[in-house]
Amino acid sequence: MKEASPLNTRCPRDGCQGAPVERVTLQHHLRPELRDSLGKGPFHFCESANCSVVYFDAAGGAVYEAGDVLLPVSHKAQGVGVPLCYCFGVMDDAVRRQVLDGGISTAPQHVKARMEAVGCACNTTNPAGRCCLGVIGRRIQGYQQERQVSRGKSLHDG
Ligand SMILES: [Zn+2]
Repeated sequence: MKEASPLNTRCPRDGCQGAPVERVTLQHHLRPELRDSLGKGPFHFCESANCSVVYFDAAGGAVYEAGDVLLPVSHKAQGVGVPLCYCFGVMDDAVRRQVLDGGISTAPQHVKARMEAVGCACNTTNPAGRCCLGVIGRRIQGYQQERQVSRGKSLHDG
């Protein structure tokens, strides 16, 4: 019996613990020319905001970076053109604008309602291969802090 090679489930770039991701997720998100050489995995996703690695093969050692995937990755990018919910097209800059204007965002309720009504397909639509609600919640908190800071500033200025 052949011994299985030890798995490396930590990101080879920043060493953080990778999140398991299905092979089908990589098949959807890698640039087409990279798909033919895609190994068996298992594959992991690096969630670090400041790390350029998106996927790595825990057994084969292959590494895929932001430039190797077709879409901006919400864990690693912010601003115009970055989706937060890939199933229903909720965009990062729209959520930011909602929070800076009114202090809250309707995005989580919107996504939950669409999930119940028509269903989601995160394992193929989202580069992270999982539900977007965790990222949306953290992003809203970040923009609420940004709003408080800017309101505090304008109070001092006024
Ligand atoms: Zn990483």
